[in-house]
Amino acid sequence: MLRPYADVIVDITHTAVDRVFQYEIPEELSEQVRLGARVRAPFGQGNRIRDGYIIGFSEKTDYDPLKIKKLEAVCEDGMPIEGQLIRLAAWMKERYGGTMIQALKTVLPVKRKLKAVEKKYLVRKVSREECEALLALYRKKNQKARVRLLEAFLEDETLPYEMVVQKLRVSAASVRPFLEQGICALETRSSFRSPVGEGAAPGERVRLNEEQLAAVSGILSAFRGDRRPCYLHGITGSGKTEVYMEVIRQVAAEGKQAIVLIPEIALTWQTVMRFYRQFGDRVSIVHSRLSAGEKSDQMERARRGGLDIMIGPRSALFTPFPNLGLIIIDEEHEAAYKSETVPRYHAVDTAIKRCELAGAMTILGSATPSASSYYRAQNGEYHFFQMKTRAKEESTLPSVEIVDLREELKAGNRGIFSRRLKELMGETLKRGEQILLFLNRRGYAGFVSCRSCGKAVKCPHCDVSLKVHRDGTLKCHYCGYETAIPKACPSCGSGYIAGFGTGTQKVEALVKAMFPEAGVLRMDMDTTSKKGSHDAILSAFADGKADILVGTQMIVKGHDFPRVTLVGILAADLSLYSGGYEAGERTFSLLTQAAGRAGRDSLPGHVVIQSYSPDNYSVEAAASQDYEGFYWHEILYRKLLRYPPVYRMLALLITSREEEAAEAMAETVRRKAEETDVSGVLELLGPAKASVAKINDVYRYLFYAKCEEEEPLLELKRRLEALDWGKQVQYQFDME
Ligand code: ADP
Ligand code: ZN
Ligand code: ZN
Repeated sequence: MLRPYADVIVDITHTAVDRVFQYEIPEELSEQVRLGARVRAPFGQGNRIRDGYIIGFSEKTDYDPLKIKKLEAVCEDGMPIEGQLIRLAAWMKERYGGTMIQALKTVLPVKRKLKAVEKKYLVRKVSREECEALLALYRKKNQKARVRLLEAFLEDETLPYEMVVQKLRVSAASVRPFLEQGICALETRSSFRSPVGEGAAPGERVRLNEEQLAAVSGILSAFRGDRRPCYLHGITGSGKTEVYMEVIRQVAAEGKQAIVLIPEIALTWQTVMRFYRQFGDRVSIVHSRLSAGEKSDQMERARRGGLDIMIGPRSALFTPFPNLGLIIIDEEHEAAYKSETVPRYHAVDTAIKRCELAGAMTILGSATPSASSYYRAQNGEYHFFQMKTRAKEESTLPSVEIVDLREELKAGNRGIFSRRLKELMGETLKRGEQILLFLNRRGYAGFVSCRSCGKAVKCPHCDVSLKVHRDGTLKCHYCGYETAIPKACPSCGSGYIAGFGTGTQKVEALVKAMFPEAGVLRMDMDTTSKKGSHDAILSAFADGKADILVGTQMIVKGHDFPRVTLVGILAADLSLYSGGYEAGERTFSLLTQAAGRAGRDSLPGHVVIQSYSPDNYSVEAAASQDYEGFYWHEILYRKLLRYPPVYRMLALLITSREEEAAEAMAETVRRKAEETDVSGVLELLGPAKASVAKINDVYRYLFYAKCEEEEPLLELKRRLEALDWGKQVQYQFDME
């Protein structure tokens, strides 16, 4: 291919990608240039020679070809880390769509001028024995926050102040008397220093059990061998984190670095501290609450070789480690690993690609693997390891019962609580233990519909039903539109209009009525929209300030409440009807995780799953904690309907404010797709109006193409991208 021009960015920063310079590639360099290569080129009026990176090639230039400058040289220092990330960005653009600039912005660090930010630490100033005595005292006083702080001080002498406040949830007011009495001191250090401090006693390493040892040695021999990705399937509490840490220790000893991805919601203080205790100041963490400056400091630290391990959510994937050895993705099945913005990349595939470019290895782990990953593991694409027992002896799996809600109805119980759940709730409260009630929905009473004509009241801007809130208004969860509940049906004028369904607010009200003595807390999107409220609710519950916590998804992830012995899942089916081919998988993993909340410590746990479809395989398999049983059903269904992972699927969303323009483009897409698919290997669906056909007055059409191979889909995507989309129509690709 003739490609006489190179697109070059000077500096490897976020903002630099908005200033791309074109250079002519001189004959003698044409063999050496490649994507991601570092080059030397003249810049500005004085033609000062500076370093830059090639981010693309073009056949044409928008400038006067006579005035365009020439590349001076290609640096022959191998592929620098920046080059690897640029190549990763090119792969992401190709696979997930969007522009190269969008991909580069995702991948490249936001670089600031490096300055050592001062960071605050709390340092214990009393002896261990004194600390224990204080702990006993504050336990007696029942001052829970101070108890947590003292417990943490027993484990680590130096605690990052930010973590004490955010993760340990101890307020400044609770710390102050400790500072005044000299129990601890507030010290400021440069953020490049250890967040744990030199004085921190390294944590004792657990002695790995046989299953863990087998996993470690298997993973290490894969690392010394072909470095195909490894899958670690281990039940909750089987000790996966210990396995990760042991493998990292050995790989770090060879001078290589590791990235550990953990979903933000599960990035708890305990987890982070476990890593700090083992690896000290060689560990850092990024998360969404860090400022851009703090994040950039940590990334720069990683690039300069000052770190061995970076822990964080999805975006930590792009940590610029110079000698990357491992990317570990814990809770691999989590939906949060899929980006919601362009490029809509998936962390698992992107990690595997990055490892391929860097010569590193990916480790995926979960108790409830995604069907896609498990399928690939079964096909031998991944090395596979399993751990089937809990690592701590005293903790046992909870007992699970399914209650058939149809039977309840037959017996005359129209409430949302089955008789069995009510009975167990009463017993649990009597024993002074705690209860989690889980509901997969928010809002007061779902939506409002007409009993005469059956139509639900919809948002005038979006094609979705409005949800009732307790303040008596109807709200659209897509665009925020708000209106009063109508007295008559907007469609037929009938007065028989009513709400149905159940929301967390309603459950909360019902529980309070049933057990007036019990303290009830609620956690959902509405109660946690304010910053910090999430942690406040959890800490109140952990401190025993309430007996019952009612909530949505948020309460099932990553939090340990040792006194919770009963988990009630009120309507297991709701996520089954949420649409999408992954509904069964979501249901199974939600139910399994929710059930896993019960009896985490030595107290035995009970779980009640209420369902209208108790014989659905997702519900049944979750109740018996049977992943394999679930998987074989699920994969059969995917095969029959040709869904991923058995088939690859390209999705295209076409949007426009002009309905006609969107429709015309949809037809063009269909024609182009048929034209492309000469050999007939593609299965084409649509374009059709999306199930939510209109959001915020923007019309939406969806188009799918399925194929057993990926390449024909990528080819189709390239051809569709080359269409003339005009100014009125926007599009977005998604590859699964
Ligand atoms: P997972 O990540 O699989 O849920 P963790 O690694 O968090 O499991 O381990 C669960 C608990 O068991 C933790 O408290 C951990 O310290 C403990 N644990 C793990 N491995 C061992 C072991 N070999 N011996 C004793 N305790 C262990
Ligand atoms: Zn009506
Ligand atoms: Zn709306």
